[in-house]
Amino acid sequence: MTLFKLLFGESKLECPRCLGKGFVDWDDIRRLNNQLKWTPAPCAYCNATGKVTKEMLSKVAVNNVYLTIDLPESELEKIKNGDEETLEKARLHELFIDNLIKYVQHHYTTQNMDPQSIADLYLSTEDESAPFSVERGNLISYIEKIINSKRSDQN
Ligand SMILES: [Zn+2]
Repeated sequence: MTLFKLLFGESKLECPRCLGKGFVDWDDIRRLNNQLKWTPAPCAYCNATGKVTKEMLSKVAVNNVYLTIDLPESELEKIKNGDEETLEKARLHELFIDNLIKYVQHHYTTQNMDPQSIADLYLSTEDESAPFSVERGNLISYIEKIINSKRSDQN
């Protein structure tokens, strides 16, 4: 922090991701429409302080899926500093998840496949050079979650 900022204070705003609680709960997750992508955890957007700078708001989308408390500190810093390469990685990560969700919903609704079969089909067609991959056991639990959320949507 520069002396100027220290003396005059950087204007801080309420964190729009956690609404100032410092913690992202299911209500926040639903509000940001990331039910299949996050679980409740301390807020990575404001680093659990409940306050953010205007600069942060202009650089990083509030619902940036990749920016969670699970990331290593160095990666969090890069995103907050608006590092292009890391933001691109964040974008690809979100795309990967979105495609996976669509893939599962498609195979479940059109072919009524079970989670294991969908996982095996997905892994057999996965591009070897794909930047992100999922271990089979985790993939199956994730597919179950996607299918269950689809069921509850219809109720
Ligand atoms: Zn927050």
